[in-house]
Amino acid sequence: MFRRLRSVLSSFVDKITSVAFSKEKLLEEIEELKIQLVSNDVVYEVAEDLAGKLADAVENKLVRNRKELVEYMRNILLGYFREAGSIDLESLARNNKPFKIVFLGVNGVGKTTTIAKIAFYLRGKGFKPLMVAADTFRAGAQEQLKIHGDRIGIPVFTGRYGADPASLAFDSISYARNRGFDIVLIDTAGRMHTDVDLVEELRKIVRVVKPHLRVLVVDALTGNDSIQQAIFFNEKIGVDAVVVAKVDAYEQGGVPLSIAYAIRKPIIFIGIGQDYKDLKPFDPIEYLEKILPE
Ligand code: GDP
Repeated sequence: MFRRLRSVLSSFVDKITSVAFSKEKLLEEIEELKIQLVSNDVVYEVAEDLAGKLADAVENKLVRNRKELVEYMRNILLGYFREAGSIDLESLARNNKPFKIVFLGVNGVGKTTTIAKIAFYLRGKGFKPLMVAADTFRAGAQEQLKIHGDRIGIPVFTGRYGADPASLAFDSISYARNRGFDIVLIDTAGRMHTDVDLVEELRKIVRVVKPHLRVLVVDALTGNDSIQQAIFFNEKIGVDAVVVAKVDAYEQGGVPLSIAYAIRKPIIFIGIGQDYKDLKPFDPIEYLEKILPE
């Protein structure tokens, strides 16, 4: 997990702190750092900003040793996450009944599995979740969610194929209210995200459902694509929080940082496996522990 980013940052710190540097050599190392960051899914703006600040700090002797350099990096990186804010899912859910979440994301990223994991997680916290299959277009989409629901024993609200996804989602809210469900997790279609009809369909669902949260699910393994998807969905529909799935097999490391920076929205969970329990609340401090050298 995040192994390559850690190795890039470690090797930079090792080099910078091992010998005295000429200005020219320092700039060379800074350029190399930028290239390595970008090739490990760190967006260019972050690489540029971080490298620039580090060059400045080393040159002006604001950091005098390895420990101070690492702390300096940590503070810069933590700043990006602070700007993205944070969300206390449980207290939000406790204060809004039923608590409505609309999930967005391209097919194959792990969206359906993630919805089931979050439903499973929230039930563990004492909530009564309902999952809603609002992709009435793609054959098998509703069954896919239903299979998860059966496995974890959480009900799934479905409708006719071809039915209007927004009306289905709307009906599911009244259903949830009448039956005492306190969280509604709505799955949506994820055809090619640039599909104009899909954007309209998702906007309509959001207009009708008025969700408390619009959660985007991305696949860490797709690297830069996941960052582009975050920018796209945030611009076209609006995103309040992000789940980064498949982090267990993800070595590059830059995706959580880049997404938080690119759309200034918090990452709330990471997916760390295929099991329903393989979901972890995302903690920027823990993430920085993993990518920064000792
Ligand atoms: P969807 O099309 O976006 O709904 O994707 P699915 O939920 O069907 O997931 C696609 C594949 O990714 C499935 O084989 C899931 O088991 C797998 N998957 C989802 N989340 C994770 C994760 O966090 N880690 C790993 N290793 N696999 C995952």
